[in-house]
Amino acid sequence: TQTILEATELKKYFPMRAGVFSKVRGYVKAVDGVSIKVQSGETFGLVGESGCGKSTLGRLLLRLITPTAGETFFEGTNIYQLNSKKMRDFRRYFQIIFQDPYASLNPKMKIGNIIGEPLIVYNLVSTDQEKKKRVEELLEIVGLSKAHYGRFPHEFSGGQRQRIGIARALTLNPKLVICDEAVSALDVSVQAQILNLLKQLQKDFGLTYIFISHDLSVVKYVSDRVGVMYLGKIVEMGDCNRIYKEPFHPYTKALLSSVPDPNPRMRKEHIVLEGEIPNPLNPPEGCTFHTRCPQAMDICNNIVPQLRMLTNGHWVACHVYD
Ligand code: SF4
Ligand code: MG
Repeated sequence: TQTILEATELKKYFPMRAGVFSKVRGYVKAVDGVSIKVQSGETFGLVGESGCGKSTLGRLLLRLITPTAGETFFEGTNIYQLNSKKMRDFRRYFQIIFQDPYASLNPKMKIGNIIGEPLIVYNLVSTDQEKKKRVEELLEIVGLSKAHYGRFPHEFSGGQRQRIGIARALTLNPKLVICDEAVSALDVSVQAQILNLLKQLQKDFGLTYIFISHDLSVVKYVSDRVGVMYLGKIVEMGDCNRIYKEPFHPYTKALLSSVPDPNPRMRKEHIVLEGEIPNPLNPPEGCTFHTRCPQAMDICNNIVPQLRMLTNGHWVACHVYD
């Protein structure tokens, strides 16, 4: 397998001020030293509670925002060092699908133009006829119909609108697609249809996915590997099935204990985490999870546990495994 995307020690700190012209009061460490490698053709799931930094990480990986520190390599090229013209060329290869496709679909534009716009922007078609042909193809690929070409976004259901969002993401034949809570706004039955569509498209077009969600069942359904985030850091990472079967990190254990297992013999004891997620402006010293961790020890109060590989491809940041 080949690495398509590699991030090293990525950080994004947002300055906090009381007002626009006030002094910086501190920094929210939304992403705080994340290193990941994504293999071509895989689905890498990114889970964690809301506010853990997974969406910020997704945006950093596509250079939709710039990092405070760290690098991201797309097929070996450091994307933060590209000038804007080169970056524009690269953007073709990675796309993002958001939770609410409606917000990103111009209500006054016909579906055909929404999906076909990137072809015009990138000068990939010279006639309307060519554009129409490609868009009709895309409509069918995502399970809509040619007849939808001239319709407007409000004429579609939530699931259909997410199909339109997916079609638009595919217009330029991307290699990597980041799905950020892509099915979170949909009913469960519609979720399954969209997830199956994404899986099919991955097979047909050799796509690589980074699948961001707070929903552990959804992530399990689609992911080959998974990274678990807590307060801007990845605390556990590895093969999805293995982590879901036997999580190592106390935070992962607690998260997974709340996912209902259909097999009653496999049901885990429900671990209730004490307290709230700490204020990211003022995170705890040492292991940032120590204020809620059922296994916390003295060392956890002041020494940050490093993410290290415990067994083949399974990474954990926790002093229990030192
Ligand atoms: Fe818990 Fe300590 Fe491990 Fe952090 S390092 S998860 S506080 S046991
Ligand atoms: Mg988010």
